[in-house]
Amino acid sequence: KLHNTILELKGNIRVFCRVRPLLSDDGFGTDAKVISFPTAMEAPDRGIDLMQNGQKHSFTFDKVFTPEASQEDVFVEISQLVQSALDGYKVCIFAYGQTGSGKTFTMMGKPGIPYQKGLIPRSLEQVFETRQTLQSQGWKYEMQVSMLEIYNETIRDLLATNRSGFDAPRPENMGKQYAIKHDANGNTHVSDLTVVDVRSSKEVSYLLERAAHSRSVGKTQMNEQSSRSHFVFTLRIMGVNEGTDQQVQGVLNLIDLAGSERLSKSGSTGDRLKETQAINKSLSSLSDVIFALAKKEEHVPFRNSKLTYLLQPCLGGDSKTLMFVNVSPDPSSVGESLCSLRFAARVN
Ligand code: ADP
Ligand code: MG
Repeated sequence: KLHNTILELKGNIRVFCRVRPLLSDDGFGTDAKVISFPTAMEAPDRGIDLMQNGQKHSFTFDKVFTPEASQEDVFVEISQLVQSALDGYKVCIFAYGQTGSGKTFTMMGKPGIPYQKGLIPRSLEQVFETRQTLQSQGWKYEMQVSMLEIYNETIRDLLATNRSGFDAPRPENMGKQYAIKHDANGNTHVSDLTVVDVRSSKEVSYLLERAAHSRSVGKTQMNEQSSRSHFVFTLRIMGVNEGTDQQVQGVLNLIDLAGSERLSKSGSTGDRLKETQAINKSLSSLSDVIFALAKKEEHVPFRNSKLTYLLQPCLGGDSKTLMFVNVSPDPSSVGESLCSLRFAARVN
């Protein structure tokens, strides 16, 4: 009963926590376990404890994945959510956490290693497989993909092309406004953004590769790291049933957020400081928005950052939101891990 009440209060927002395995370069002396998983009967697979300076901090989430959880184990828990995008829902799945905590592993996985594929490729495979099945029931779908990066509150189109090819730095794109507009139907338009019609998960894989390349080129050109920017993958799904004339419009947003670590401590100045402030601002704006939605507050501050404004129609209402909080088990990261868990507990 209590559980139901909690779910009602929270509406369509879920928070999953994932702890990655210890890696060989996480440092030595890693016997000191800072993270453990309490097993309470009323909340199996939902608790996580973190030890810092002899003090225990306990958290509960909708689901906690231990380091042993495979990519498949994680996908099983989100496949329903992906499915609902085909039923016409607007879905956002975020990965939040410090750099190195496993966000990109969770979202993209390791390219070329099938069992380590992440949520994005698995979701796409499922979407296109289901589309095939639904065809026999009269459903016809059109799908469109766009991919962008938000860096220092500036949008960058990751699928932009120019005369010299896809991957060249694109100075002619730098002046573009990428103005965000929402229409009355809750559809989002970003001016000048490349939107590609796709018919198979293979086509999307190709676009993902292009975007990854575009990101890495931009990163060296502009002397920055991809961990400083938000990556937003959007699949727009438009379905019509030829028998019943029923129509659905769903959106699946998969977002690999910028690293949440606090760089300001390390005395950053100039551009670095500006960048850090922009990241902190957009992550705290995201937290404010999700918190306001969860609390069903009247005023939701969508306009405080590019990311929340872009995703406004896909957050709140009858849309569905899932936040992964990725955590490193490395004892030297315990401070950042605690920050991440607290962030997630606030939106949980
Ligand atoms: P982030 O994107 O948060 O900076 P990454 O996803 O790049 O972090 O992960 C950091 C490192 O940890 C990478 O080498 C990645 O392959 C590895 N890693 C992360 N999560 C897992 C996991 N669940 N299982 C195995 N390796 C992982
Ligand atoms: Mg990453």
